Amino acid sequence: FGSGDDGRPAPSPSPTTERTSGASDADDVPGLAGVAGSGRSSPPDPASLPLTGLTVALDPGHNGANAQHPDQVGAPVPDGRGGSKACNTVGTSTDAGYPEHAFTWDVASRAGAALEALGAQVVLTRSDDQGVGPCVDVRGRSAQDAGADVLVSVHANGSDDKAARGFFVIVADPPPAVEIDEGLRAENAASSERLATDMVGALASAGFPPSGSVGGAISRRGDLGTLNFAERPAVLLELGEMRNLDEAALMSSEEGRQRYADAIAVGVVAWAG
Ligand code: ZN
Repeated sequence: FGSGDDGRPAPSPSPTTERTSGASDADDVPGLAGVAGSGRSSPPDPASLPLTGLTVALDPGHNGANAQHPDQVGAPVPDGRGGSKACNTVGTSTDAGYPEHAFTWDVASRAGAALEALGAQVVLTRSDDQGVGPCVDVRGRSAQDAGADVLVSVHANGSDDKAARGFFVIVADPPPAVEIDEGLRAENAASSERLATDMVGALASAGFPPSGSVGGAISRRGDLGTLNFAERPAVLLELGEMRNLDEAALMSSEEGRQRYADAIAVGVVAWAG
C-alpha cells in the first residue's frame, strides 16, 4: 500500500505494514483433475489440455531478503506514470511472523505447477525466496519480456484492522501508459477486467470470502508499478488479510496455500476459455 506495490482499497489511507524498509514488516485442481490427468499413467495428450499454448507469468510479491537490503529495496524506480517509487517493499506478515514473501512464493510455485499440469508454460519473476527484488518495474515488464500472454501478481494484504478479511483483485486504472498501440491497450484493459472477474469468481467458488462483496472485490488503481508496466493483460491478487487470525491460519497452512493456488489456476482457465 502507499509507496509499496500492494493494494488495499484506496479510500482507507491508514498507515500500513507495506514499507520500503524495516525489519518488523515484515495439484490437483478441483473440477479439473479429470481434464488434466484422467487417472491414467500415460501422460495426457498436450493438445487436449485447456491451457496448451498459453504462457503465464506469475509474480510472487516481495522477496525473502528484502528486509536485509533497505537501500537496494528503497531505491527509486520509475512508477510507470511519470514519477518514481520504491524498487520493492518488504511486505506484510501474520502476527505469528509468517511473511508475505514466503506465502506468495509458495502459492505462486503451487499455482505454477497446477497451470503446467493444465498445459500452460509458466515463468516466475523470481527463482527462489532468498533474494532481493526484482523491482516493480521489472516485475511489470516480465510478461512481455518472457513472451508470456498474461501476468498474475500474487500478494496478501496487511490491514491493521484485524476484522478486515477477504481477497480482492486489482487492475490498472487508467490502463498502463506503455508505448503500445491504442487498440492493443484497450484490448489489454478489457482482458484484464475479464481476468479480474474470473479470478474473483474462482476464488469465491473455492470458498474464499471476497473483501466487502463479490461485486466490490475488484479494485482499480493507477499507482502500482507491477501493473503499470505490463503490456499484457495483468492483475494483482490480494488473496487475503494476513492480520486476520482466520485468514492467517489458512495462509500458514499448506492445505490453504494449495487451495489458493488451485483457485488461481481455475481463474486462468476461465479467462483463457
Ligand atoms: Zn504485497
